[in-house]
Amino acid sequence: MGPGPVDNSRSPFAALGTLPFGSTALTDGVLSRRQQVNRERSLWHGLRMLHTAGNFDNLRYAASGGGAYRGPFFMDSDVYKWLEAVGWELGQRPNAPLQEAAEQAVTIVAAAQDADGYLDSYYQVAEPGRRWSDLPQGHELYCLGHLAQAALALSRACGNDRLLDVTTRAFAHVQTVFGEGKRIGVDGHPEVETALVELFRHTRNADYLRLATFFLNHRGAGLLGGGRLRDPGYFQDRVPIRDAEVIEGHAVRGTYLLSGVVDAYLETGEAALLRSSRRQWQDMVDHKQYLTGGIGSRRYSEGFGNAYELPSDAGYAETCAAIGSFYWNWRMLLATGEGIYADHMELTLYNGILSGLGLDGTHFFYENPLSSTGAHVRQEWYRVACCPPNLMRLMASIGHYLATKTPDGVQLHLYDSYRVNAPVAGGRIVLEIQSNYPWEDQVLVRVVETPERPWELSVRLPRWCRTPRVSVDGQALESTPRNGYAVVSRTWTPGDLVALTLPMRPSLVAAHPYVESARHAAAITRGPIVYCIEGCDQEPGVDPKTVSIDATGGLRSEWHPALLGGTVQITARGSAQDLTGWTQLYRPLDDVAPTRRPVQLTAIPYFLWGNREPGGMSVWVPIGQGSNDGR
Ligand SMILES: [Zn+2]
Repeated sequence: MGPGPVDNSRSPFAALGTLPFGSTALTDGVLSRRQQVNRERSLWHGLRMLHTAGNFDNLRYAASGGGAYRGPFFMDSDVYKWLEAVGWELGQRPNAPLQEAAEQAVTIVAAAQDADGYLDSYYQVAEPGRRWSDLPQGHELYCLGHLAQAALALSRACGNDRLLDVTTRAFAHVQTVFGEGKRIGVDGHPEVETALVELFRHTRNADYLRLATFFLNHRGAGLLGGGRLRDPGYFQDRVPIRDAEVIEGHAVRGTYLLSGVVDAYLETGEAALLRSSRRQWQDMVDHKQYLTGGIGSRRYSEGFGNAYELPSDAGYAETCAAIGSFYWNWRMLLATGEGIYADHMELTLYNGILSGLGLDGTHFFYENPLSSTGAHVRQEWYRVACCPPNLMRLMASIGHYLATKTPDGVQLHLYDSYRVNAPVAGGRIVLEIQSNYPWEDQVLVRVVETPERPWELSVRLPRWCRTPRVSVDGQALESTPRNGYAVVSRTWTPGDLVALTLPMRPSLVAAHPYVESARHAAAITRGPIVYCIEGCDQEPGVDPKTVSIDATGGLRSEWHPALLGGTVQITARGSAQDLTGWTQLYRPLDDVAPTRRPVQLTAIPYFLWGNREPGGMSVWVPIGQGSNDGR
C-alpha cells in the first residue's frame, strides 16, 4: 500500500510522519459508520449527480468539440474530487462496480485533454481561445490541483497511473505558460500549491516544488485585485504570504493556500512560512472561528469577517471551509507535533464538517449556520457543488488522519475504534484502539504486536478535558504531558493495555461579549461535541428561537441508542416565550406581558441536526431563570 493524501516520509522538516494508507482501519464507531454510508450511498449518489448536473457532459464536449457547457467554471473539480474519494475507497476494499465507474470517468477525463496537455472543459467548450484569460475567477489551476490529488489517490491507493499520466501532461503544459521568465500569475482560488508539493513528493521531480513556490511567492502582489469583488484581500493577495498578520478573505481559498504554505515549509524549512501560518491560525481561533470550528462568517464573500463578526443565523461557515481548516491543521500538526492542531481537527470534524453530511449520505449542507428559523434544509446537490464531493474524499480517507509515527514511536490523534498497523524502525507496531468516542469517556489501546526495543506511545489529551487520566496495565501514569500528549515510553509486550479516561460532562460555554449573537447566551457542549436545540425535540409549541436556559438548573445527559444513529441527548431546564398575539416587529417593552413558561429543553449534537422534519435550531441559548424572568 502506498502513502495517503499527504506523504511526508521524505520531508526534511516534518515533526511527525504520516503512515502508509491503510495502516489505520476503522472497525466501529461514528467515523466508521459515516465512512460506510459514504461507500454505500454517497459515492453512487455523487456519480448520478455528476451525470445529471452536466459535469461529465462538459468533459465529453471538450473531447468532441460540440455541445453547450453547463454550470459554473469549476465543474471539472467536482469530478476530480469524486475520483479522489473513489481512489481512497478502493484502496481499502475491492469494489468492482465502483472501480468500473472510476475507469469510465478517467476515460472521459483523458479524452477531454487537448493535444498540448491543456485540460479545462469550461475554457475548451464555453470560451475556446481564452485560456488563462481570467486567473482571478477562471479556476483553471484550481481544477488541475484537484486533478493531481485525484491522480495521486488512484496511484497510491490502487496502483492505477492512468490519471497521473493525464496530470503529468497537464502540468507540462502549465510549465510552458507560468514561471520565472514566463508569465507571472497566480490562480484566484488556491489549491494547486498544495497539490504541486504533493506531486513533488510523489515523483521527486523538483520542477513541481519550484512551481508551487513560484505561485506562493507571487501571491500578495495584487495580481488578482481586478476580479469580481475588486478586493485583493478576498483572494489573500493583499500582502505577501510571509508578511500576513491576520487571516482574511474567502475562507476556502485561505485555508487551501495555508495548506500549501505549510506543505512548502515541510520541504524547504523556511521559517517565515511557518511563522506566518502560525500568526494567521492564531487570529482565526482567537477571533474568527465559530464554536463548531466553522469559519467564513460572511455570506457575500464566503469569507472571514472582522474579529468577533460571527453572526449565528446569517453564519455562512461553508462545509468546504471547515474541511480546508482540517487539512491546514493536519499539516500544522505534521510540521510542529503540537496537539493543539489535532484538538482543532477534532473540533472541526465532529461539528463544523460532519454537520454538512446528512445521515442518509445523500443530503448535504453547504452552509452551516448556528441558528435557523427552519428555512435552512439539506439539499441533494448544489449548483456550486464543491461541498458534497469534498465530504466524500475526506470520509473515504479519514483513516489517514488518525495516527502518525516518528523514529521513536506512534502518536494517536483522533479517537474511535480502529486498528493501527505501522511499520517502524526495527519492526512493526500493531495497536487496537477501542472506544465509543465521542460518547463515552474511555479509550483503550491494546498492544498487539511490538518490536522488542523500547518505543513511545503518545495519546492526545484533548484540551476540552480538564481531568484526563492515563493508566498503563492498571498503573496510573504520572509523567508530565508533552505537546498535549501523554507519552508512555517502555519496552512493550503484546497484551499491554493503555487506558485513557476523558471525563465527558455536559457543560455550558460562553462566548466573548463582542460576539453579538451570543451575548448573554450559553451553548451546551459535552466532550468535543457542540449541542443545539432543534425544534422537533422540544415540547409541543416550543420554538427554539424563543427559549432561554436556566444556567443554574443543571444538565443531564442520556445515551439514546435509537436516536439519530445512536447519540447522547442532553436536557436542561429553561423557559419558552409565548408569541401569541405578537405580530408586530417592535413594541413597547411595558406592553410585553410576562408570558414565559417553564419547559424542559432537549439538546442534540449540532452535527446531527437537520436530519428529521424541518424546524428551528439554536446553538446559543439566552440565559434566563425559568419562568420568572419576566420577558
Ligand atoms: Zn463547498
